[in-house]
Amino acid sequence: MTLQRIHTFRSRITILTGGLLLSLSLVLVTSSYYVASTRLSNASGEYLVGISQSISNMLTANLIEREREIILLSKRLSLYQSDNLSELQQTIDQIKNSYKHYAWIGFANADGVVLASSDGLLKGADVSQRPWFINGRSGPFIGDLHKALLLESLLPKPEDGSAIRFVDFSAPVINEDGKLEGVVATHANWLWAKEVLSSSFTEASKTKEIDMYIVNNDGDVLYPDNHLGDISVPTTLPKDGQFESLIWQDGKDYLTSTAFVDSPESTHLGWRIVVRQPVAIAMSTVNELHKLLLTLGIISTLFCMILAYRLAGMLSFPLERLAGTAKRIQQGDKNVTFQEDNQLHEVTSLSRSLQDMMLSLLDREQTLLQLNSTLEAKVQSRTAQLEATNQSLKAIVRQDRLTQVYNRLALDEELIKHYELARESGNQFAIIMVDADHFKKINDQYGHTIGDKVLKRMAAVLKNLVDNSGIVARFGGEEFTVLLPNTDVENAQKMAEILREHIEKTEMADGLYITASFGVAMYSADDDHYEQVLNRADAALYKAKETGRNKVVFSY
Ligand code: GH3
Ligand code: MG
Ligand code: MG
Repeated sequence: MTLQRIHTFRSRITILTGGLLLSLSLVLVTSSYYVASTRLSNASGEYLVGISQSISNMLTANLIEREREIILLSKRLSLYQSDNLSELQQTIDQIKNSYKHYAWIGFANADGVVLASSDGLLKGADVSQRPWFINGRSGPFIGDLHKALLLESLLPKPEDGSAIRFVDFSAPVINEDGKLEGVVATHANWLWAKEVLSSSFTEASKTKEIDMYIVNNDGDVLYPDNHLGDISVPTTLPKDGQFESLIWQDGKDYLTSTAFVDSPESTHLGWRIVVRQPVAIAMSTVNELHKLLLTLGIISTLFCMILAYRLAGMLSFPLERLAGTAKRIQQGDKNVTFQEDNQLHEVTSLSRSLQDMMLSLLDREQTLLQLNSTLEAKVQSRTAQLEATNQSLKAIVRQDRLTQVYNRLALDEELIKHYELARESGNQFAIIMVDADHFKKINDQYGHTIGDKVLKRMAAVLKNLVDNSGIVARFGGEEFTVLLPNTDVENAQKMAEILREHIEKTEMADGLYITASFGVAMYSADDDHYEQVLNRADAALYKAKETGRNKVVFSY
Protein backbone atom coordinates (compact mmCIF):
# COMPACT_ATOMS: atom_id res chain seq x y z
CA MET A 1 0.00 0.00 0.00
CA THR A 2 2.75 2.40 1.01
CA LEU A 3 4.85 1.45 -1.98
CA GLN A 4 1.89 1.90 -4.27
CA ARG A 5 1.36 5.36 -2.88
CA ILE A 6 4.94 6.34 -3.75
CA HIS A 7 4.28 5.40 -7.33
CA THR A 8 1.61 8.01 -7.77
CA PHE A 9 2.17 11.16 -9.74
CA ARG A 10 1.10 13.16 -6.73
CA SER A 11 3.50 11.63 -4.19
CA ARG A 12 6.43 11.93 -6.53
CA ILE A 13 5.89 15.65 -7.08
CA THR A 14 5.52 16.12 -3.33
CA ILE A 15 8.68 14.19 -2.52
CA LEU A 16 10.60 15.97 -5.27
CA THR A 17 9.52 19.40 -4.02
CA GLY A 18 10.27 18.45 -0.42
CA GLY A 19 13.71 17.15 -1.36
CA LEU A 20 14.59 20.23 -3.39
CA LEU A 21 13.39 22.63 -0.70
CA LEU A 22 15.15 20.75 2.05
CA SER A 23 18.45 20.75 0.14
CA LEU A 24 17.98 24.44 -0.62
CA SER A 25 17.30 25.27 3.03
CA LEU A 26 20.27 23.17 4.11
CA VAL A 27 22.52 25.07 1.71
CA LEU A 28 21.09 28.40 2.91
CA VAL A 29 21.35 27.46 6.58
CA THR A 30 24.91 26.21 6.16
CA SER A 31 26.06 29.29 4.27
CA SER A 32 24.30 31.67 6.65
CA TYR A 33 25.79 29.75 9.55
CA TYR A 34 29.23 30.13 8.05
CA VAL A 35 28.82 33.88 7.43
CA ALA A 36 27.21 34.50 10.81
CA SER A 37 29.74 32.43 12.73
CA THR A 38 32.67 34.23 11.06
CA ARG A 39 31.14 37.60 11.84
CA LEU A 40 30.20 36.69 15.35
CA SER A 41 33.57 35.15 16.00
CA ASN A 42 35.20 38.41 14.85
CA ALA A 43 32.81 40.48 16.92
CA SER A 44 33.37 38.35 20.03
CA GLY A 45 37.13 38.45 19.48
CA GLU A 46 37.08 42.22 19.13
CA TYR A 47 35.03 42.44 22.29
CA LEU A 48 37.59 40.38 24.19
CA VAL A 49 40.40 42.52 22.77
CA GLY A 50 38.51 45.58 24.00
CA ILE A 51 38.24 44.15 27.49
CA SER A 52 41.90 43.15 27.64
CA GLN A 53 43.03 46.53 26.40
CA SER A 54 40.89 48.45 28.84
CA ILE A 55 42.25 46.38 31.74
CA SER A 56 45.76 46.88 30.46
CA ASN A 57 45.20 50.63 30.23
CA MET A 58 43.89 50.80 33.78
CA LEU A 59 46.79 48.76 35.17
CA THR A 60 49.30 50.82 33.21
CA ALA A 61 47.81 54.04 34.50
CA ASN A 62 47.94 52.70 38.01
CA LEU A 63 51.53 51.58 37.72
CA ILE A 64 52.60 54.96 36.33
CA GLU A 65 50.71 56.69 39.11
CA ARG A 66 52.46 54.64 41.79
CA GLU A 67 55.85 55.13 40.19
CA ARG A 68 55.30 58.87 39.87
CA GLU A 69 54.38 59.02 43.54
CA ILE A 70 57.56 57.28 44.70
CA ILE A 71 59.74 59.41 42.39
CA LEU A 72 58.13 62.54 43.78
CA LEU A 73 58.80 61.31 47.32
CA SER A 74 62.42 60.57 46.50
CA LYS A 75 62.90 64.06 45.16
CA ARG A 76 61.84 65.77 48.40
CA LEU A 77 65.40 65.89 49.78
CA SER A 78 64.58 68.05 52.78
CA LEU A 79 62.62 65.19 54.28
CA TYR A 80 65.68 62.97 54.47
CA GLN A 81 68.15 65.57 55.64
CA SER A 82 66.44 66.60 58.93
CA ASP A 83 67.81 64.98 62.05
CA ASN A 84 64.93 63.13 63.44
CA LEU A 85 63.19 62.30 60.15
CA SER A 86 59.85 63.16 61.76
CA GLU A 87 58.70 65.11 58.75
CA LEU A 88 59.50 62.14 56.53
CA GLN A 89 57.54 59.94 58.88
CA GLN A 90 54.55 62.26 58.62
CA THR A 91 54.70 62.42 54.86
CA ILE A 92 54.95 58.65 54.65
CA ASP A 93 51.89 58.29 56.83
CA GLN A 94 50.04 60.84 54.73
CA ILE A 95 50.87 59.05 51.51
CA LYS A 96 49.94 55.70 52.96
CA ASN A 97 46.60 57.02 54.12
CA SER A 98 45.94 58.61 50.74
CA TYR A 99 45.95 55.23 48.98
CA LYS A 100 44.44 52.22 50.67
CA HIS A 101 46.48 49.64 48.77
CA TYR A 102 49.80 50.86 50.06
CA ALA A 103 50.79 48.16 52.46
CA TRP A 104 54.06 49.67 53.42
CA ILE A 105 56.10 52.80 52.67
CA GLY A 106 59.57 53.23 53.99
CA PHE A 107 62.99 54.73 53.62
CA ALA A 108 66.20 52.78 53.97
CA ASN A 109 69.59 54.52 54.18
CA ALA A 110 72.40 53.77 51.80
CA ASP A 111 73.35 50.72 53.90
CA GLY A 112 69.93 49.18 53.59
CA VAL A 113 68.69 49.93 57.12
CA VAL A 114 65.09 51.10 57.40
CA LEU A 115 65.03 54.47 59.05
CA ALA A 116 61.45 55.54 58.60
CA SER A 117 58.37 53.53 57.67
CA SER A 118 54.60 53.52 57.76
CA ASP A 119 53.34 52.46 61.14
CA GLY A 120 56.98 51.97 62.09
CA LEU A 121 56.94 48.54 60.51
CA LEU A 122 60.38 47.06 59.80
CA LYS A 123 62.07 50.09 61.31
CA GLY A 124 65.75 49.26 61.83
CA ALA A 125 65.46 46.13 59.66
CA ASP A 126 68.12 45.32 57.09
CA VAL A 127 66.69 45.39 53.58
CA SER A 128 69.98 45.59 51.76
CA GLN A 129 69.35 42.26 50.02
CA ARG A 130 65.84 43.11 48.88
CA PRO A 131 65.57 43.54 45.12
CA TRP A 132 63.73 46.85 45.50
CA PHE A 133 66.68 48.19 47.50
CA ILE A 134 69.38 46.80 45.22
CA ASN A 135 67.58 47.98 42.05
CA GLY A 136 66.20 51.16 43.58
CA ARG A 137 69.69 52.50 44.28
CA SER A 138 70.42 53.15 40.65
CA GLY A 139 67.02 54.51 39.55
CA PRO A 140 63.24 54.12 39.80
CA PHE A 141 62.28 50.47 39.98
CA ILE A 142 59.13 48.41 39.87
CA GLY A 143 59.43 44.91 41.18
CA ASP A 144 57.47 42.00 39.86
CA LEU A 145 54.74 40.58 42.02
CA HIS A 146 56.12 38.69 44.99
CA LYS A 147 54.99 37.33 48.30
CA ALA A 148 55.51 39.39 51.43
CA LEU A 149 58.53 38.13 53.27
CA LEU A 150 59.48 40.37 56.16
CA LEU A 151 56.01 41.89 56.37
CA GLU A 152 54.09 38.65 56.18
CA SER A 153 53.66 38.31 59.90
CA LEU A 154 53.23 42.01 60.51
CA LEU A 155 50.29 42.71 58.21
CA PRO A 156 46.68 41.57 58.52
CA LYS A 157 45.85 38.56 56.34
CA PRO A 158 43.62 39.05 53.26
CA GLU A 159 40.01 37.92 53.74
CA ASP A 160 40.12 35.30 50.98
CA GLY A 161 43.00 33.52 52.71
CA SER A 162 45.44 34.11 49.89
CA ALA A 163 49.00 35.10 50.59
CA ILE A 164 49.89 38.76 50.86
CA ARG A 165 51.56 39.81 47.68
CA PHE A 166 53.19 43.03 46.71
CA VAL A 167 54.39 45.00 43.81
CA ASP A 168 57.34 47.11 44.91
CA PHE A 169 58.02 50.63 43.73
CA SER A 170 61.34 52.18 44.75
CA ALA A 171 63.42 55.19 43.84
CA PRO A 172 66.89 56.42 44.96
CA VAL A 173 67.23 59.47 47.16
CA ILE A 174 70.22 61.35 45.84
CA ASN A 175 71.45 64.51 47.56
CA GLU A 176 72.69 67.71 45.97
CA ASP A 177 76.17 66.23 45.73
CA GLY A 178 74.90 63.35 43.73
CA LYS A 179 75.50 60.98 46.57
CA LEU A 180 73.03 58.24 47.44
CA GLU A 181 71.20 59.01 50.69
CA GLY A 182 69.07 55.88 50.59
CA VAL A 183 66.11 54.33 48.84
CA VAL A 184 62.40 55.05 49.31
CA ALA A 185 59.97 52.29 48.54
CA THR A 186 56.29 51.43 48.59
CA HIS A 187 54.81 47.99 48.69
CA ALA A 188 51.51 48.13 46.82
CA ASN A 189 49.20 45.39 47.83
CA TRP A 190 48.22 43.19 44.92
CA LEU A 191 44.61 43.80 45.87
CA TRP A 192 44.66 46.92 43.75
CA ALA A 193 45.12 44.77 40.63
CA LYS A 194 42.25 42.62 41.77
CA GLU A 195 40.11 45.68 42.17
CA VAL A 196 40.96 46.89 38.70
CA LEU A 197 40.01 43.55 37.22
CA SER A 198 36.85 43.07 39.21
CA SER A 199 35.70 46.48 38.04
CA SER A 200 35.97 45.09 34.52
CA PHE A 201 33.85 42.11 35.46
CA THR A 202 30.39 43.17 34.47
CA GLU A 203 27.36 40.93 34.87
CA ALA A 204 27.37 40.50 31.11
CA SER A 205 30.93 39.20 31.05
CA LYS A 206 30.13 36.75 33.86
CA THR A 207 27.17 35.28 31.98
CA LYS A 208 29.30 35.09 28.88
CA GLU A 209 31.81 33.02 30.88
CA ILE A 210 34.59 35.46 30.17
CA ASP A 211 37.76 34.85 32.23
CA MET A 212 40.58 37.37 32.70
CA TYR A 213 44.17 36.69 33.62
CA ILE A 214 47.29 38.68 34.30
CA VAL A 215 50.37 36.81 33.17
CA ASN A 216 53.95 37.85 33.83
CA ASN A 217 56.96 37.69 31.55
CA ASP A 218 57.61 34.02 32.45
CA GLY A 219 54.07 33.03 31.63
CA ASP A 220 53.08 32.65 35.29
CA VAL A 221 49.55 33.59 36.17
CA LEU A 222 49.57 36.54 38.60
CA TYR A 223 45.87 36.90 38.73
CA PRO A 224 43.46 35.43 39.75
CA ASP A 225 45.02 34.23 43.02
CA ASN A 226 42.75 31.29 43.57
CA HIS A 227 43.82 29.78 40.23
CA LEU A 228 47.50 30.07 40.97
CA GLY A 229 49.34 26.96 40.06
CA ASP A 230 46.42 25.02 38.64
CA ILE A 231 46.01 27.09 35.53
CA SER A 232 48.50 27.79 32.84
CA VAL A 233 47.94 29.85 29.75
CA PRO A 234 48.81 28.49 26.31
CA THR A 235 52.50 28.94 25.47
CA THR A 236 51.85 30.85 22.27
CA LEU A 237 49.41 33.64 22.89
CA PRO A 238 48.00 36.02 20.27
CA LYS A 239 49.98 39.18 19.56
CA ASP A 240 49.21 42.37 21.44
CA GLY A 241 45.69 43.62 20.70
CA GLN A 242 44.76 40.52 18.74
CA PHE A 243 42.62 37.42 19.32
CA GLU A 244 42.75 33.78 18.32
CA SER A 245 40.87 30.60 18.93
CA LEU A 246 43.18 28.51 21.16
CA ILE A 247 43.01 25.18 22.92
CA TRP A 248 43.70 25.65 26.63
CA GLN A 249 45.02 23.09 29.08
CA ASP A 250 41.49 21.77 29.78
CA GLY A 251 41.27 20.77 26.12
CA LYS A 252 38.55 23.29 25.38
CA ASP A 253 38.56 25.81 22.62
CA TYR A 254 38.63 29.42 23.79
CA LEU A 255 38.58 32.71 21.96
CA THR A 256 41.64 34.30 23.50
CA SER A 257 42.85 37.89 23.34
CA THR A 258 46.01 39.45 24.72
CA ALA A 259 47.01 43.00 25.61
CA PHE A 260 50.42 44.03 26.99
CA VAL A 261 50.55 46.14 30.06
CA ASP A 262 52.78 49.07 29.10
CA SER A 263 55.10 49.29 32.02
CA PRO A 264 56.64 52.57 33.00
CA GLU A 265 59.94 53.35 31.30
CA SER A 266 61.98 52.42 34.36
CA THR A 267 61.25 48.70 34.46
CA HIS A 268 60.01 46.26 31.89
CA LEU A 269 57.56 44.00 33.71
CA GLY A 270 56.31 42.22 30.62
CA TRP A 271 52.81 41.71 32.05
CA ARG A 272 50.05 40.65 29.73
CA ILE A 273 46.30 40.69 30.14
CA VAL A 274 44.76 37.52 28.75
CA VAL A 275 40.99 37.38 28.29
CA ARG A 276 39.28 34.23 27.15
CA GLN A 277 35.77 33.01 26.39
CA PRO A 278 34.71 29.45 25.44
CA VAL A 279 34.11 29.33 21.69
CA ALA A 280 30.92 27.35 22.36
CA ILE A 281 29.56 30.28 24.40
CA ALA A 282 30.80 32.88 21.95
CA MET A 283 29.11 30.93 19.19
CA SER A 284 25.96 30.13 21.14
CA THR A 285 24.06 32.90 19.40
CA VAL A 286 25.07 31.50 16.05
CA ASN A 287 24.14 28.01 17.17
CA GLU A 288 20.77 29.28 18.26
CA LEU A 289 20.42 31.08 14.96
CA HIS A 290 21.45 27.87 13.22
CA LYS A 291 18.80 25.88 15.06
CA LEU A 292 16.19 28.55 14.36
CA LEU A 293 17.05 28.62 10.67
CA LEU A 294 16.99 24.83 10.50
CA THR A 295 13.61 24.68 12.22
CA LEU A 296 12.27 27.39 9.94
CA GLY A 297 13.69 25.53 6.93
CA ILE A 298 12.02 22.28 7.97
CA ILE A 299 8.71 23.99 8.74
CA SER A 300 8.72 25.86 5.45
CA THR A 301 9.67 22.64 3.63
CA LEU A 302 6.77 20.82 5.24
CA PHE A 303 4.46 23.69 4.41
CA CYS A 304 5.64 23.70 0.80
CA MET A 305 5.26 19.91 0.65
CA ILE A 306 1.64 20.23 1.73
CA LEU A 307 1.18 22.96 -0.86
CA ALA A 308 2.90 20.82 -3.49
CA TYR A 309 0.73 17.84 -2.50
CA ARG A 310 -2.36 19.92 -3.07
CA LEU A 311 -1.10 21.36 -6.34
CA ALA A 312 -0.01 17.93 -7.52
CA GLY A 313 -3.48 16.72 -6.60
CA MET A 314 -4.93 19.36 -8.90
CA LEU A 315 -2.60 18.16 -11.65
CA SER A 316 -3.17 14.48 -11.12
CA PHE A 317 -6.92 14.73 -10.49
CA PRO A 318 -7.91 14.69 -14.21
CA LEU A 319 -5.60 11.72 -14.81
CA GLU A 320 -6.97 9.86 -11.80
CA ARG A 321 -10.48 10.61 -13.06
CA LEU A 322 -9.59 9.21 -16.50
CA ALA A 323 -8.11 6.11 -14.86
CA GLY A 324 -11.25 5.75 -12.74
CA THR A 325 -13.50 6.01 -15.80
CA ALA A 326 -11.38 3.44 -17.64
CA LYS A 327 -11.67 1.07 -14.67
CA ARG A 328 -15.45 1.45 -14.57
CA ILE A 329 -15.61 0.69 -18.27
CA GLN A 330 -13.40 -2.33 -17.73
CA GLN A 331 -15.83 -3.49 -15.03
CA GLY A 332 -18.63 -3.32 -17.56
CA ASP A 333 -20.19 0.08 -16.96
CA LYS A 334 -20.91 1.38 -20.46
CA ASN A 335 -22.76 4.51 -19.43
CA VAL A 336 -19.71 6.44 -18.25
CA THR A 337 -17.95 9.06 -20.34
CA PHE A 338 -14.41 10.39 -20.19
CA GLN A 339 -14.69 13.92 -18.85
CA GLU A 340 -12.62 16.62 -20.44
CA ASP A 341 -10.41 18.96 -18.48
CA ASN A 342 -10.71 22.57 -19.47
CA GLN A 343 -7.32 23.57 -18.15
CA LEU A 344 -4.90 20.92 -19.36
CA HIS A 345 -4.80 20.52 -23.12
CA GLU A 346 -2.94 17.21 -22.96
CA VAL A 347 -5.56 15.74 -20.67
CA THR A 348 -8.35 17.09 -22.88
CA SER A 349 -6.85 15.49 -25.95
CA LEU A 350 -6.20 12.21 -24.12
CA SER A 351 -9.71 12.19 -22.79
CA ARG A 352 -11.16 12.82 -26.26
CA SER A 353 -9.09 10.04 -27.77
CA LEU A 354 -10.18 7.63 -25.04
CA GLN A 355 -13.81 8.64 -25.48
CA ASP A 356 -13.60 8.12 -29.28
CA MET A 357 -11.87 4.82 -28.75
CA MET A 358 -14.52 3.71 -26.30
CA LEU A 359 -17.35 4.72 -28.64
CA SER A 360 -15.79 2.90 -31.57
CA LEU A 361 -15.22 -0.18 -29.41
CA LEU A 362 -18.80 -0.09 -28.18
CA ASP A 363 -19.97 0.29 -31.79
CA ARG A 364 -17.95 -2.73 -32.83
CA GLU A 365 -19.18 -4.72 -29.89
CA GLN A 366 -22.77 -3.88 -30.89
CA THR A 367 -22.12 -4.96 -34.49
CA LEU A 368 -20.52 -8.17 -33.29
CA LEU A 369 -23.50 -8.89 -31.03
CA GLN A 370 -25.89 -8.34 -33.91
CA LEU A 371 -23.84 -10.52 -36.21
CA ASN A 372 -23.75 -13.15 -33.55
CA SER A 373 -27.49 -13.22 -33.04
CA THR A 374 -28.13 -13.31 -36.82
CA LEU A 375 -25.66 -16.13 -37.11
CA GLU A 376 -27.29 -17.98 -34.25
CA ALA A 377 -30.75 -17.61 -35.81
CA LYS A 378 -29.38 -18.86 -39.12
CA VAL A 379 -27.72 -21.82 -37.50
CA GLN A 380 -30.94 -22.65 -35.67
CA SER A 381 -33.08 -22.53 -38.83
CA ARG A 382 -30.50 -24.54 -40.78
CA THR A 383 -30.35 -27.09 -38.00
CA ALA A 384 -34.15 -27.32 -38.00
CA GLN A 385 -34.13 -27.73 -41.77
CA LEU A 386 -31.47 -30.40 -41.55
CA GLU A 387 -33.36 -32.17 -38.83
CA ALA A 388 -36.54 -32.08 -40.92
CA THR A 389 -34.63 -33.35 -43.92
CA ASN A 390 -33.10 -35.99 -41.75
CA GLN A 391 -36.52 -36.98 -40.48
CA SER A 392 -37.97 -37.20 -43.96
CA LEU A 393 -34.87 -39.08 -45.15
CA LYS A 394 -35.29 -41.45 -42.27
CA ALA A 395 -38.96 -41.87 -43.21
CA ILE A 396 -38.08 -42.38 -46.87
CA VAL A 397 -35.43 -44.93 -46.00
CA ARG A 398 -38.00 -46.88 -43.91
CA GLN A 399 -40.85 -46.64 -46.43
CA ASP A 400 -41.75 -48.94 -49.26
CA ARG A 401 -41.81 -46.83 -52.42
CA LEU A 402 -44.73 -48.53 -54.10
CA THR A 403 -47.15 -49.12 -51.26
CA GLN A 404 -46.09 -46.34 -48.86
CA VAL A 405 -46.13 -48.74 -45.91
CA TYR A 406 -42.97 -49.70 -43.92
CA ASN A 407 -40.29 -51.57 -45.87
CA ARG A 408 -38.37 -54.65 -44.74
CA LEU A 409 -35.67 -52.48 -43.02
CA ALA A 410 -38.25 -50.66 -40.90
CA LEU A 411 -39.96 -53.98 -40.15
CA ASP A 412 -36.71 -55.46 -38.87
CA GLU A 413 -36.09 -52.42 -36.62
CA GLU A 414 -39.61 -52.55 -35.21
CA LEU A 415 -39.38 -56.27 -34.69
CA ILE A 416 -36.10 -55.93 -32.74
CA LYS A 417 -37.62 -53.16 -30.65
CA HIS A 418 -40.76 -55.12 -29.74
CA TYR A 419 -38.84 -58.35 -29.27
CA GLU A 420 -36.58 -56.56 -26.69
CA LEU A 421 -39.60 -54.95 -25.04
CA ALA A 422 -41.35 -58.32 -24.83
CA ARG A 423 -38.25 -59.89 -23.29
CA GLU A 424 -37.98 -57.12 -20.70
CA SER A 425 -41.64 -56.65 -19.74
CA GLY A 426 -43.27 -59.92 -20.94
CA ASN A 427 -45.65 -57.99 -23.20
CA GLN A 428 -46.84 -60.30 -25.97
CA PHE A 429 -46.79 -59.36 -29.67
CA ALA A 430 -48.20 -61.14 -32.68
CA ILE A 431 -47.07 -61.41 -36.29
CA ILE A 432 -49.43 -61.90 -39.20
CA MET A 433 -47.88 -62.88 -42.55
CA VAL A 434 -50.16 -61.98 -45.48
CA ASP A 435 -49.62 -63.36 -49.07
CA ALA A 436 -51.83 -62.55 -52.09
CA ASP A 437 -53.19 -65.70 -53.63
CA HIS A 438 -52.18 -66.51 -57.25
CA PHE A 439 -50.87 -63.05 -57.82
CA LYS A 440 -48.78 -64.22 -60.73
CA LYS A 441 -51.98 -64.65 -62.65
CA ILE A 442 -53.00 -60.98 -62.02
CA ASN A 443 -49.77 -59.84 -63.52
CA ASP A 444 -50.08 -62.25 -66.31
CA GLN A 445 -53.71 -61.37 -67.01
CA TYR A 446 -53.81 -57.55 -66.41
CA GLY A 447 -50.20 -56.58 -66.61
CA HIS A 448 -47.72 -55.25 -64.05
CA THR A 449 -49.30 -51.79 -63.76
CA ILE A 450 -52.60 -53.22 -62.62
CA GLY A 451 -50.59 -55.65 -60.43
CA ASP A 452 -48.87 -52.65 -58.78
CA LYS A 453 -52.22 -50.90 -58.32
CA VAL A 454 -53.62 -54.02 -56.64
CA LEU A 455 -50.59 -54.20 -54.34
CA LYS A 456 -51.08 -50.50 -53.37
CA ARG A 457 -54.76 -51.04 -52.70
CA MET A 458 -54.11 -54.19 -50.68
CA ALA A 459 -51.54 -52.30 -48.52
CA ALA A 460 -54.01 -49.43 -48.00
CA VAL A 461 -56.71 -51.84 -46.85
CA LEU A 462 -54.32 -53.46 -44.37
CA LYS A 463 -53.09 -50.09 -43.07
CA ASN A 464 -56.58 -48.68 -42.59
CA LEU A 465 -57.72 -51.66 -40.62
CA VAL A 466 -54.63 -52.09 -38.43
CA ASP A 467 -54.39 -48.31 -37.90
CA ASN A 468 -52.93 -47.52 -34.45
CA SER A 469 -53.08 -51.04 -33.07
CA GLY A 470 -49.97 -52.11 -35.00
CA ILE A 471 -47.80 -51.55 -38.03
CA VAL A 472 -47.98 -52.80 -41.58
CA ALA A 473 -44.85 -53.58 -43.65
CA ARG A 474 -44.20 -54.96 -47.12
CA PHE A 475 -42.18 -58.13 -46.56
CA GLY A 476 -41.39 -58.45 -50.25
CA GLY A 477 -43.23 -58.97 -53.57
CA GLU A 478 -46.95 -59.60 -52.85
CA GLU A 479 -46.27 -60.54 -49.23
CA PHE A 480 -47.01 -58.20 -46.22
CA THR A 481 -46.33 -58.44 -42.49
CA VAL A 482 -48.54 -57.05 -39.73
CA LEU A 483 -47.00 -56.54 -36.25
CA LEU A 484 -49.48 -56.25 -33.39
CA PRO A 485 -47.90 -55.23 -30.01
CA ASN A 486 -49.61 -55.92 -26.65
CA THR A 487 -51.97 -58.47 -27.98
CA ASP A 488 -53.03 -62.06 -27.34
CA VAL A 489 -53.84 -65.02 -29.57
CA GLU A 490 -57.54 -64.25 -29.82
CA ASN A 491 -57.11 -60.64 -30.79
CA ALA A 492 -54.45 -61.56 -33.33
CA GLN A 493 -56.66 -64.22 -34.93
CA LYS A 494 -59.60 -61.82 -34.87
CA MET A 495 -57.56 -59.13 -36.60
CA ALA A 496 -56.26 -61.64 -39.23
CA GLU A 497 -59.80 -62.71 -39.94
CA ILE A 498 -60.99 -59.06 -40.32
CA LEU A 499 -58.13 -58.38 -42.72
CA ARG A 500 -58.85 -61.49 -44.79
CA GLU A 501 -62.55 -60.59 -45.07
CA HIS A 502 -61.91 -57.00 -46.13
CA ILE A 503 -59.34 -58.00 -48.80
CA GLU A 504 -61.77 -60.45 -50.19
CA LYS A 505 -64.56 -57.86 -50.33
CA THR A 506 -62.58 -54.91 -51.58
CA GLU A 507 -62.52 -54.11 -55.28
CA MET A 508 -58.81 -53.81 -55.92
CA ALA A 509 -59.10 -52.47 -59.45
CA ASP A 510 -61.88 -52.07 -61.94
CA GLY A 511 -63.97 -55.14 -61.16
CA LEU A 512 -60.96 -56.98 -59.87
CA TYR A 513 -61.05 -58.86 -56.55
CA ILE A 514 -58.41 -60.95 -54.88
CA THR A 515 -57.98 -63.12 -51.83
CA ALA A 516 -55.02 -63.60 -49.51
CA SER A 517 -53.76 -66.28 -47.12
CA PHE A 518 -52.75 -65.50 -43.47
CA GLY A 519 -50.26 -67.13 -41.12
CA VAL A 520 -50.43 -65.95 -37.45
CA ALA A 521 -47.76 -66.52 -34.76
CA MET A 522 -47.29 -65.19 -31.15
CA TYR A 523 -44.03 -64.26 -29.45
CA SER A 524 -42.96 -66.94 -27.02
CA ALA A 525 -40.73 -66.52 -24.00
CA ASP A 526 -38.72 -69.45 -25.30
CA ASP A 527 -37.73 -67.57 -28.46
CA ASP A 528 -34.05 -66.80 -28.86
CA HIS A 529 -34.51 -64.50 -31.83
CA TYR A 530 -37.32 -62.44 -33.26
CA GLU A 531 -36.92 -64.34 -36.58
CA GLN A 532 -38.26 -67.44 -34.82
CA VAL A 533 -41.64 -65.66 -34.51
CA LEU A 534 -41.44 -64.72 -38.22
CA ASN A 535 -40.57 -68.26 -39.18
CA ARG A 536 -43.54 -69.67 -37.27
CA ALA A 537 -45.90 -67.15 -38.95
CA ASP A 538 -44.38 -68.07 -42.33
CA ALA A 539 -44.91 -71.75 -41.63
CA ALA A 540 -48.56 -71.07 -40.72
CA LEU A 541 -48.97 -69.11 -43.97
CA TYR A 542 -47.49 -72.03 -45.90
CA LYS A 543 -50.05 -74.24 -44.27
CA ALA A 544 -52.85 -71.85 -45.23
CA LYS A 545 -51.68 -72.01 -48.87
CA GLU A 546 -51.46 -75.77 -48.77
CA THR A 547 -54.85 -76.17 -47.23
CA GLY A 548 -56.79 -74.14 -49.81
CA ARG A 549 -55.78 -70.47 -49.53
CA ASN A 550 -57.98 -67.45 -48.47
CA LYS A 551 -57.78 -68.59 -44.91
CA VAL A 552 -56.12 -67.82 -41.55
CA VAL A 553 -53.85 -70.45 -39.97
CA PHE A 554 -52.41 -70.02 -36.45
CA SER A 555 -49.10 -71.54 -35.56
CA TYR A 556 -49.09 -73.23 -32.18
P1 GH3 B 1 -49.60 -68.55 -54.58
O1 GH3 B 1 -51.04 -68.47 -54.40
O2 GH3 B 1 -49.00 -69.85 -54.35
O3 GH3 B 1 -48.89 -67.56 -53.77
O4 GH3 B 1 -49.28 -68.21 -56.07
P2 GH3 B 1 -48.70 -66.85 -56.65
O5 GH3 B 1 -48.79 -66.77 -58.05
O6 GH3 B 1 -49.26 -65.71 -55.91
O7 GH3 B 1 -47.18 -67.00 -56.18
P3 GH3 B 1 -45.83 -66.88 -56.96
O8 GH3 B 1 -44.69 -66.88 -55.97
O9 GH3 B 1 -45.75 -67.97 -57.92
O10 GH3 B 1 -45.88 -65.60 -57.81
C1 GH3 B 1 -45.79 -64.37 -57.23
C2 GH3 B 1 -45.84 -63.32 -58.23
O11 GH3 B 1 -45.97 -62.05 -57.84
C3 GH3 B 1 -44.66 -63.34 -59.14
C4 GH3 B 1 -44.41 -61.93 -59.48
O12 GH3 B 1 -44.47 -61.60 -60.84
C5 GH3 B 1 -45.45 -61.19 -58.81
N1 GH3 B 1 -44.96 -59.98 -58.27
C6 GH3 B 1 -44.00 -59.92 -57.29
N2 GH3 B 1 -43.73 -58.61 -57.05
C7 GH3 B 1 -44.49 -57.85 -57.88
C8 GH3 B 1 -44.62 -56.42 -58.07
O13 GH3 B 1 -43.99 -55.60 -57.43
N3 GH3 B 1 -45.53 -56.04 -59.02
C9 GH3 B 1 -46.29 -56.88 -59.77
N4 GH3 B 1 -47.13 -56.43 -60.66
N5 GH3 B 1 -46.10 -58.19 -59.60
C10 GH3 B 1 -45.25 -58.69 -58.66
MG1 MG C 1 -45.68 -65.12 -52.49
MG1 MG D 1 -48.86 -65.38 -53.69
